Amino acid sequence: MKKSGSHTQLQTLIRSFDHFENQIFLTFDDGPNDHSTSRVLDVLKSRSVPATFFLVGQDVRPQLKLVQRLVSEGHQLGNHSWDHLYANYFSSETRLREWVGRVNQEFRDLQLPESVGFRPPAGVVTPPLVKALASLREPLILWNERFFDAVFQWGRARADRSARRLSGGSIVLLHDGQKAERIEAFCETLDHYITSLRARGFEFAALTREICLTESGF
Ligand SMILES: [Zn+2]
Repeated sequence: MKKSGSHTQLQTLIRSFDHFENQIFLTFDDGPNDHSTSRVLDVLKSRSVPATFFLVGQDVRPQLKLVQRLVSEGHQLGNHSWDHLYANYFSSETRLREWVGRVNQEFRDLQLPESVGFRPPAGVVTPPLVKALASLREPLILWNERFFDAVFQWGRARADRSARRLSGGSIVLLHDGQKAERIEAFCETLDHYITSLRARGFEFAALTREICLTESGF
């Protein structure tokens, strides 16, 4: 979609992909987390599942070793804003551009791979944010499946219902930033979910910047 009289092209918001028959994209938000991210990485490694991690920019440098592990194990990085603070949604397009762009600059400074795109904290999408992302040529990536697993315990029954309901090309929102008391059960459910989805013929893939740019219409 072209805005008349402007060079700014507004992107298509991504919730899922129609043209992937077998692939499921697991995504994990709110890391890197020193208590729980490595536990999630252990599960994914043991099952050979690639995924995408939407990271909070200000936490990347303090947890650089963890982020480097994530990259070396074949996962992709996404941008989940600099500080995850919702107050930023009430600020200007310029400020939003900085909130997003600073993370990508941090990835470059730390010699990390480029972000696949931006996932707004709490999934909030406002017109100034859409414009800011368009000017940064940053894909806007949401999801079509979620469990509120950062708030409630995620269990097998819900994982099974999801595995029956999902279609290929789905983007699943999960959180590697888990409370200490929930991480054990979370990982057990994640392992079970992977088994359930594979039993239904699905494979796992990480998002890439290339497919997200294409899907965005950039
Ligand atoms: Zn978040």
